[in-house]
Amino acid sequence: MDRVLLLKFGELFLKGRNRREFLKLLKSNIIKKLHNLKFKLVETQGRLIVSDYEESQEDEIIERLQKVFGLIAVMPAIEFDTTLENIKTYVDTLDFSGVKTFKVDVKRADKTFSMMSMELERYLGGVVLEKNLNLKVDLYNPEMVVNVEIRVNQKTYIYNKLYPCAGGLPLGSAGKGLLLLSGGIDSPVAGYLMAKRGLTLEAVHFHSYPYTSVQAKEKVIELANQISEYCDEIKLHIISFTEIQEQIHKNCDADYMITIMRRIMMRIAERLCNKNGLGAIVTGESLGQVASQTMQSMNVTNSVVSLPVFRPVIAYDKEEIMDVAKKIKTYETSILPYEDCCTVFLPKNPVIKPTISRAEHNEQFLDIEKLVEVAIANEEIMVIKNF
Ligand code: ATP
Ligand code: MG
Repeated sequence: MDRVLLLKFGELFLKGRNRREFLKLLKSNIIKKLHNLKFKLVETQGRLIVSDYEESQEDEIIERLQKVFGLIAVMPAIEFDTTLENIKTYVDTLDFSGVKTFKVDVKRADKTFSMMSMELERYLGGVVLEKNLNLKVDLYNPEMVVNVEIRVNQKTYIYNKLYPCAGGLPLGSAGKGLLLLSGGIDSPVAGYLMAKRGLTLEAVHFHSYPYTSVQAKEKVIELANQISEYCDEIKLHIISFTEIQEQIHKNCDADYMITIMRRIMMRIAERLCNKNGLGAIVTGESLGQVASQTMQSMNVTNSVVSLPVFRPVIAYDKEEIMDVAKKIKTYETSILPYEDCCTVFLPKNPVIKPTISRAEHNEQFLDIEKLVEVAIANEEIMVIKNF
């Protein structure tokens, strides 16, 4: 008898001919995630199984697997050679303390096994009841389900616990993108959500030191560190925005300050994408949340780039974004009170419905090409890996 982890994966089944490719990616992501632990990963009959690990590391392995996109659940199981005697023996060893109702669920892929599924369910139910006199069978809402899987490789698996995983698609299956990462609540969530759809992330952060503090930058590094738990590793581009902001403040209309800032951020982001082989820009904007997040604003900022801009929280309420932030544990860091570069020189009345022509008019007073070039030439790069 061996202890193993059965892995349940999700949408891969829907993907037809891409399935093999996705499974390959999923396996390599799992191997990366568990890289410094002892284990074996095998694929049998459409199932992934982790085996040969130290039992003392089982919790750690499960916890890491819960952060691998593409997995739906992990089930710790016992694996043994298929015989009725063995199945009975191992069902007999299960611990039902504290449980009042149960059912047995048999999946019999091995059609040569002597008993039919229902027959075996009834038989094993009887075995359990004989030993646990206070238990009752409840087929519809049992507290515990004893799953018995009889596979064609002469192995049977028994499990009764299921740990939910992150779901989504394997990281990397959708290509690579650049997350605009501020220190706020929304952008780490946006990054997480896109990674969940298979997008590998790099991130860019704009700071306005000395108007913004060193702590503000460290907070962003910590956020990148936290999302990297789901994203393998994150290359973080840190860009000084100070000169750009001073120039905008000096030369542009106050109500267009944020609009112009956003357009320059997008231009820099696109340049970084092209330089690093990234195919999309990701932001944490949510429709109507603030003046700069109207559809007119987004149109005016989108118009300076030709790459797709993904805004996965566009339709989320703040509460919904906060729920995800808490789940992925970025929330506590995000609410630390350090200023973002966007709040420096903030105008009293930013324009709510900017137009491209007025933005372009304002930009005539800036040497945008030069500002973008210098900002990128002075970028600081960190590779962040959280395991
Ligand atoms: P967040 O909570 O993500 O900071 P927000 O609600 O504060 O978002 P804004 O400040 O308007 O909204 O920023 C909108 C988006 O622009 C952010 O979600 C982020 O993607 C990007 N952004 C803003 N400031 C920065 C920055 N300093 N560096 C990188 N990206 C930024
Ligand atoms: Mg912000």
